[in-house]
Amino acid sequence: ANQLEIRDLWVSIEGQPILKGVNLVVPKGEVHALMGPNGTGKSTLGKVIAGDPEYTVDKGEVLVDGQNILELEPDERAKLGLFLAFQYPVEVPGVTIANFLRLCLNAKRGEDVSVSEFYSKVTKAIQTLEWSEDYLTRYLNEGFSGGEKKRAEILQLMVLEPTYAILDETDSGLDIDALKVVAKGVNAMRGPEFGALVITHYQRLLNYIVPDRVHVMLEGKIVMSGDKELALELEAKGYDWLKATV
Ligand code: ADP
Ligand code: MG
Ligand code: MG
Repeated sequence: ANQLEIRDLWVSIEGQPILKGVNLVVPKGEVHALMGPNGTGKSTLGKVIAGDPEYTVDKGEVLVDGQNILELEPDERAKLGLFLAFQYPVEVPGVTIANFLRLCLNAKRGEDVSVSEFYSKVTKAIQTLEWSEDYLTRYLNEGFSGGEKKRAEILQLMVLEPTYAILDETDSGLDIDALKVVAKGVNAMRGPEFGALVITHYQRLLNYIVPDRVHVMLEGKIVMSGDKELALELEAKGYDWLKATV
């Protein structure tokens, strides 16, 4: 099946259960949103999919096009077409954005990408993000503002062209311009060969990235799924309404 599937996933940290049987399917070609109150396990889900060793998977599977990835190293997951922005280092001293992007793309392909192909990809992405090519020679994230870091991350997404992306936009504190950058990148990627799970606490981002489907997590489980209207309903009624409903 061409999908990212999370099947009955149970995760704990230091013996304390956090995810309690998460089931979620993101078909290739669709953009889904994951919402929910703070502390319900949304970021935990993203980190487990990225292969963060801090968490213990007690049960369940994460399948990329039918293959369980939980035993794979983070770079092997990337080779399968997964993109997890937050698995990458925050600052890489002495490495320019251009070189970093090339290293990532070569690693994903398992061979060196030609200079011309690389530059045509990068310039196209830079134009879509309305960024300046001057940034390519800057050191990755060194002295970057929150918005610039976000642009660099989305640039990486666009150059790597993953099959499935997981973007955790929860603890961002980003201004509206930065949200628009995320949206521009994700919307430019949209198409039959791309699926995404956008994790967000607030509905606001979903005004710019209109999701095909919305899932709501509460206390380590998906308790409700619906179309884009569900995000608006949650925004209007609040998470307390949800807790009372389920
Ligand atoms: P969300 O992203 O929905 O706000 P998180 O996944 O960040 O939720 O956290 C879910 C729960 O797991 C919270 O109660 C949080 O305190 C706990 N948790 C997450 N990461 C850790 C950690 N590294 N150590 C201890 N507890 C953690
Ligand atoms: Mg949180
Ligand atoms: Mg979070």
